[in-house]
Amino acid sequence: MVAKPKVAICWLGGCGGCDEAVVDLNEAVLQVTEAVDIIFWPVALDFKYHHLEAMKDGEITLSIVNGNIRNSEQEEVARLLRVKSQLVLAFGACACFGGTPGMANFRTKEDIFNWVYRDAPTVVNPKNNYPQPRSRTNGKELTLPEFYEQVFELKQIIDVDYYLPGCPPPPDLIANAVNAVLEGKLPPKGATLAPHKALCDTCKRNVTKPSKVEINDIRRIHEVEASPDTCFLVNGILCMGIATRGGCGESCININMPCRGCFGPVEGVEDSGAKFISALAALLDVEDDEAMKKLIDKLDDLAGYIYRFTLPTSLLKKRR
Ligand code: SF4
Ligand code: SF4
Repeated sequence: MVAKPKVAICWLGGCGGCDEAVVDLNEAVLQVTEAVDIIFWPVALDFKYHHLEAMKDGEITLSIVNGNIRNSEQEEVARLLRVKSQLVLAFGACACFGGTPGMANFRTKEDIFNWVYRDAPTVVNPKNNYPQPRSRTNGKELTLPEFYEQVFELKQIIDVDYYLPGCPPPPDLIANAVNAVLEGKLPPKGATLAPHKALCDTCKRNVTKPSKVEINDIRRIHEVEASPDTCFLVNGILCMGIATRGGCGESCININMPCRGCFGPVEGVEDSGAKFISALAALLDVEDDEAMKKLIDKLDDLAGYIYRFTLPTSLLKKRR
């Protein structure tokens, strides 16, 4: 009997939605489990790190890694998976770009700890205790993972073979990625296993976009009743579809929400936020810099808007 490919699925710094997305394959997940041996999936089955340590180097055919890296435990597991795996797939926006937890890079570690352990209105911490990587209690040493100064996307820590973006990635692209591995039909190393063009390319609202969109007012989605079939930009609602890789099936657009960029930049673009800003600047129909500033100030948090999923991989990477 031919040995089945061995697959590991692992959750690092993220919300767990990517693991759910694997389960959301529904009956297709049964075909996947027929075709492969899942030898490590701590969220679903009782696997421990020592099981991973005991595997031979390169024993795992494919590691599907979701989540970013914020602490020393996540780094250790990511490095271990790399050594034990022939292929590593960065799965989901957090692994590919840092994801929404990556927005913490707008703050320092000190800011975060002060808020969480001292300043938040619900905190009661009279002894001013902060988590320490090592402490002693009753003569015993206790350890905690070290919390890093910033969030890293996976490729800043280990070599990554393929990327599958999305928050979370959609079932059809997950199935395609797994099948590509099973059939040995993978593109060159480093490829993103999703379409290369921008979301606008497949969005059915694109036909309502005039040849030159002119935005003279910016509206936030909760302030208006958005038309269900007109391009958001036409109505001054910022939609990042112009600077975001397609492949999600227009999930947000279909429920009348503008795209916020979870598929990251289109092929060949490093920073989707910067790309979006440069595209937006060309669309704004304002008289002078003063009017431009007034318009942009209508957004409370422009940096958070354009880097919701991608700050750690952006040109900024973190607050400077
Ligand atoms: S900007 Fe948004 S709504 Fe308009 S065509 Fe692109 S993806 Fe669709
Ligand atoms: S529309 Fe944009 S934010 Fe929504 S799922 Fe698609 S890529 Fe992600």
